[in-house]
This record gives sequence, structure tokens and C-alpha cells, in this order.
Amino acid sequence: MGNILETNGSCPYCGKRISGYDPRVRKYGSPLIRCGSCSQVYLDRRFTEIEAEGARAEDLTTSTGIKAMILGLAAIAVCGSFTLYTVKVRDYYSLKMVVCIILGAVVFIAGLVDMIQVKSGARSKKLDKYRQESRMRLQDPDYAQALVELGYDVPLEYRKRENQ
Ligand SMILES: [Zn+2]
Repeated sequence: MGNILETNGSCPYCGKRISGYDPRVRKYGSPLIRCGSCSQVYLDRRFTEIEAEGARAEDLTTSTGIKAMILGLAAIAVCGSFTLYTVKVRDYYSLKMVVCIILGAVVFIAGLVDMIQVKSGARSKKLDKYRQESRMRLQDPDYAQALVELGYDVPLEYRKRENQ
């Protein structure tokens, strides 16, 4: 596939913007993306090729969810007690504090859902599905080779054998 360039929000060949691009968002899938505009293939590291890179640590432990739950509870406690105080003592409440309580609840629930997914085995089932898709992609020797050239630690079983 030649020299593959990396994106930072737009196609490195034709400059077409990737809609909704957020470098912090991580997904499982092929990091090699064909541009819909110029058909060239670029590298998008937001995508994790799980058979070459492994699962991301945050998807394997409950600590991510627990951290979010603690953060959410802290926001509810701080903003909640401030709101109780202003309502009781000064007879008003701040809309910002109410928003803070709601956001705290959302973060807490997201953390809880994350923890349940890890604990119940739903997360590892999902990762198994990604691994299966990843294996299918890597069975294409040209694809595996392209990732090797980009520095990916592709398992030997997918690499072209040099003495063949
Ligand atoms: Zn392009």
C-alpha cells in the first residue's frame, strides 16, 4: 500500500474533513481508512486493531467505571449540599448547581453501567467479537504487512513468511 500517512482530522491526501472527528474518542476496528473522497488509504489511530494492539486497559478493569462513579457522587454531594444550603438559608437555588447535580448523576450512571458490563462478562464478549473481526482483517497478508510497516506489533501468524 506504500507510504501511508496519518490523519489528524482530515484526509492527509486530499484534505477532506472527517465529520465528527474527536482525537480522544477510541474505537475498535481497522485503523486503515479509505477516504470517501479521493479513495486513498490513511491511518487513523483512534481505531484500535485489537489483535495487534490488544484490548485497551480501561476496557478490562472496573476501575474506569468506579472512578466515574466516585466523580459523579462527589459532584452530587458538593453541588447537592450547596443547593440544599442556598434553598434553606437564602431561599434560592443556582441553575448551575442543578446542572452540576444532573451531570453528576449521568456520570455516576455511566460508571455504573461500565462496571456492570465488565463484571457481567458482557464487555469481554464484545471484545471477543472485535478480536474475531480483527483476525478476519489480518488474514489479508497485504493488510497485515501494511500494519507491520506502520510499526504495529502484528502477531507472527499473520505475517508473510519470508522463506515462502
Ligand atoms: Zn482523501
